[in-house]
Amino acid sequence: MGTRYVYFFGEGKADGSAAMKHLLGGKGANLAEMTNLGIPVPPGFTISTEVCTYFYQSKGSYPPGLEQEVEEALHRLENLMGRRFGDPEKPLLVSVRSGAAVSMPGMMDTVLNLGLNDRTVEGLARETHDPRFAYDCYRRFLSMYGDVVLGLKAESPDEIDPFEEIIDELKKARGVQFDNQLSADDLKELCLRYKELIRRKIGKDFPQEPKAQLWGAIGAVFGSWDNPRAIAYRQINGIPDDMGTAVNVQCMVFGNMGDDCATGVAFTRNPATGENVLYGEYLVNAQGEDVVAGIRTPQPINIRQKTDPSMVSLEEAMPEAYAELERIRKILDRHYRDMQDIEFTIQRRKLWMLQTRTGKRTGFAAFKIAVDMVREGILTPKEALLRVEPNQLNQLLRPIFDAQAKQKAIASKALLAKGLNAGPGAATGRVVFNAVDAEEWAERGEKVILVRLETSPDDIRGMHAAQGILTSRGGMTSHAALVARQMGKVCVVGCGDLEIDYKQRQMTVNGRVVKEGDWISVDGSTGEVFVGQIPTRPSEVLQVLLDKTLKPEESAIYQDYMELMQWADAHRSLGVRTNADQPDQAETALLFGAEGIGLCRTEHMFFEGERIHAVREMILAPTKEGREKALAKLLPMQREDFKGIFRVMKGLPVTIRTLDPPLHEFLPTQEADIRTVAEQMGVSVERVRAKMQALHEANPMLGHRGCRLGVVYPEITAMQARAILEAACEVKKEGLDVHPEIMIPLVGHVAELAHQKRIVDEVAREVMEQYGVQVDYVVGTMIEVPRGALTADEIAKEAMFFSFGTNDLTQTVYGISRDDAAKFLHDYLDKRIWDFDPFERIDQDGVGQLMKMGVEKGRATRPDLKVGICGEHGGEPSSVEFCHRIGLNYVSCSPYRVPIARLAAARAAIREA
Ligand code: PEP
Ligand code: MG
Repeated sequence: MGTRYVYFFGEGKADGSAAMKHLLGGKGANLAEMTNLGIPVPPGFTISTEVCTYFYQSKGSYPPGLEQEVEEALHRLENLMGRRFGDPEKPLLVSVRSGAAVSMPGMMDTVLNLGLNDRTVEGLARETHDPRFAYDCYRRFLSMYGDVVLGLKAESPDEIDPFEEIIDELKKARGVQFDNQLSADDLKELCLRYKELIRRKIGKDFPQEPKAQLWGAIGAVFGSWDNPRAIAYRQINGIPDDMGTAVNVQCMVFGNMGDDCATGVAFTRNPATGENVLYGEYLVNAQGEDVVAGIRTPQPINIRQKTDPSMVSLEEAMPEAYAELERIRKILDRHYRDMQDIEFTIQRRKLWMLQTRTGKRTGFAAFKIAVDMVREGILTPKEALLRVEPNQLNQLLRPIFDAQAKQKAIASKALLAKGLNAGPGAATGRVVFNAVDAEEWAERGEKVILVRLETSPDDIRGMHAAQGILTSRGGMTSHAALVARQMGKVCVVGCGDLEIDYKQRQMTVNGRVVKEGDWISVDGSTGEVFVGQIPTRPSEVLQVLLDKTLKPEESAIYQDYMELMQWADAHRSLGVRTNADQPDQAETALLFGAEGIGLCRTEHMFFEGERIHAVREMILAPTKEGREKALAKLLPMQREDFKGIFRVMKGLPVTIRTLDPPLHEFLPTQEADIRTVAEQMGVSVERVRAKMQALHEANPMLGHRGCRLGVVYPEITAMQARAILEAACEVKKEGLDVHPEIMIPLVGHVAELAHQKRIVDEVAREVMEQYGVQVDYVVGTMIEVPRGALTADEIAKEAMFFSFGTNDLTQTVYGISRDDAAKFLHDYLDKRIWDFDPFERIDQDGVGQLMKMGVEKGRATRPDLKVGICGEHGGEPSSVEFCHRIGLNYVSCSPYRVPIARLAAARAAIREA
């Protein structure tokens, strides 16, 4: 037998299992797994992802043998169900759904009720004695097939879906609000109108032959793998293009056969808070997509979830089915050892499971679930660490609205409406009504809130660009909610009071009009929407850690955070330092767990207050004496800066870098500033101008900067070394330990470092003698130009430590100016020339090779060479993992990313072992 393409599941037994995700996709693998677990799953079969790969390699054709295998599986289904495909009396109806190995919510499409046509619909009506039901199924099938397979969608962002337009018209004509209020005749009429729309739009009749329908749907699923929105989703989420999707063909069960039927989606734990309770929503007498599509606002799954007594929960409406769901929730949660996102249908009170997959969750929920599962004995701390994505920490550290300001907003009637709290956090921005505008406005630097009836996968980029997302329709499991949660976006959905008018670009809420461009504030933790801007406040973790306005025992979030971070620290071997230029930054970083300063950019200190004048005086001075005079003014200020930092860091290592940036960054540009400098220096404005002219560089980023400044003006290095060492001696005299690490930037040749080191050592000797204090200082270098890495063995003869400046190293390895990259970066990412921005994530294949070489060569000369990284990549999880793998001693990043780096470092160590 050749390659097998079709995998059957049914009657308590499946060909596949959860381990076969790569082949069966997530959905197919889990349907097989649930079948094997004895959970009620409607039978069906999965066409493997290999067919998708073949489909793309051979321009849309299928591998030989597939048709035969599908035929056989269909027969098996027919025999099992006692129904036949296309049989006018007892028709077999199936769903066709996509499912890639990595869940891509809403990206790929679903067709339900496939097998219906003008004849079988009558058979179904006779069989069920329910023509309303039969035609409800048919109209759903027609619109889904029309949309997914035949491509009939809204043609512009201002338009609504063409099928929706027709049903809305009909509902209006009949004076009803909901789909389920339409009669059998109405639905029959709807089917006619849908078929007419299809004929008009594609110039052909809707295909009546079930096999043709089936192959059309299979082809559409495979085809949709490469539609622009799927590509965009993969791009944002780093999913490889060649992974492919599987196709699941499954017997239909019906949630729309009457009031003892329902369909729903749920999570085995609360996906917003992580609480260990069944959480979800359902609709009576509805089918599949109704719940996620947000056409009717669904009802809560259980009593505790009710926010309004008029709601009817599943727990109340169908207690037996609810109890069965609760039983299955526990089985799945334990079996998969993770929170599951499940879909179910109740047909005549019998529960059927249609899907289970690992549920998307907020950062809060990820933390709580991971920590709880350790407490419940389901996970080990190591496993729990692997369950929390480091970037999810952003949510725990993210701002919330200032409570008082919010109260004031409520008092002044700024509260516009309330929806469901789908994605926590606070966001303020200007209203836009479509995703394209969201992207464009954001590009111009505007903060926007994307407001939609509901979102679709086409909106992904716009959602990405927005501060927050607000929809009038949909529930907690709607597309908007799922995607926003995953992106960590603030999101409120199902805000039914909003009357959105895309064409007028405005919404009306209880008579109040909010226009495009107006400011609103969205609280994703409570679901409240306000007009105007509301100031934000730090998160609970920050309130405990930094502001001390909350006691640790008062915040469960903080306690979970601390517990997990302690596990992280116990498992990581990579050190985590911070990039900080000021004592307050250093203090924040310490509270976040920093173990030292990996980069203090001294030039940032030069911008404060009056200092900039002295700096300019130094730069523009025509002579060494002039420079020294200006430097003498700077020395005490720098010394005080360093003392402040040393005091905060209490003996932890502090890496201070000598002056680095191109000098033009400090030059005056305003006329008044030029005059001030001229006065200070006692020279004419013309002299200053002439000097500025002389300093002009064609390419300052590659010009007179870094150690080149110290080589040309040794007095600058000397002043900085003196400030550092005097500060160290004075703080040591106060009784505190001090470990300065003096770092020379942009070194490409060992002689540059040797030259600078000599200056530092000489000053150090003088200062220590003068103070009578020994300071344990070291001199090292940044490795941030390729020659530095290539000759690291030589450089290590002088350097006691290396720190990779991956910002400059990326710039110089790529030959791309870091200041100008943004201009063409978008195109590079859009056209998939790059998979990611190398200034954000280390390019392991290119830049990474030089880093690896730098570490190896450096340690070949000096085995105990300490090596770190202080480029922006030091707080990016995949880069942190890479740094762990190549044996760095530490990463250094901005204070707010320190916890992220700690977690990423722990995960790297666990994964390696
Ligand atoms: C770097 O180049 O990575 C670095 C840390 O230095 P800067 O960003 O200050 O050039
Ligand atoms: Mg640099």
